[in-house]
Amino acid sequence: MSQEPPEKMMFQLSLRRRGISDQAVLRTMEEVPREAFVTVTDRSYAYRDSALGIACGQTISQPFVVAYMTEQLQLRKNHRVLEIGTGSGYQAAVLSRLCGHVFTIERYRTLADSARARLEKLGYHNIEVMFGDGFDIPAGAGDFDRIIVTAAMEKIPDSLLQRLEPGGVLIAPVGPHQGTQTLVRVTRSDGGFDSKDLVDVRFVPALPGIAREL
Ligand code: SAH
Repeated sequence: MSQEPPEKMMFQLSLRRRGISDQAVLRTMEEVPREAFVTVTDRSYAYRDSALGIACGQTISQPFVVAYMTEQLQLRKNHRVLEIGTGSGYQAAVLSRLCGHVFTIERYRTLADSARARLEKLGYHNIEVMFGDGFDIPAGAGDFDRIIVTAAMEKIPDSLLQRLEPGGVLIAPVGPHQGTQTLVRVTRSDGGFDSKDLVDVRFVPALPGIAREL
């Protein structure tokens, strides 16, 4: 007999208890099978509210943080979204259900390739996974309504802010690579950029360039 239903109920409950209230986000968190994004040995922990290790020494984020960042983005069905740090592809899958198109970039070829295959197999067809450097998004990718960075940046590069459409929103963990960062939400307005600090988080570092290892 499957253990899933009670676990998934607890999963929803803990997201609500921690303050996630957007129904579309909650529904999406219920629908995306996190167990398909974690390593085989971690399957039984997939619905615990914790980050887990994936290949290349990276992590799949804690479900609460995924839900929180997604809620803060206030996605609409017509939005083009950029994610920096594909990792397992889980956050991209969640985003894809709530927007028009996700362009996600990852500096490890192994992670990019396996996320692409996984997302395709699971039927997420509005996601483009690219192997590359999130600090150097190809100009041809255009500008974005929303940008989500899922690796810690010491500072948000100006070149990234410039890729936001007017009225666009960027969310990123900003702070030192070791220790705690602050989740920052930046909104592009007519006059410039408004920035707001949200909550403390811990992410693996955003490193420049593509990874030399696989
Ligand atoms: N969003 C992921 C978790 C990301 S962990 C998920 O849902 O599973 C952070 C990821 O960012 C790691 O895979 C890391 O390799 C990647 N990363 C770090 N710096 C990067 C950069 N400059 N460009 C692209 N990806 C980067």
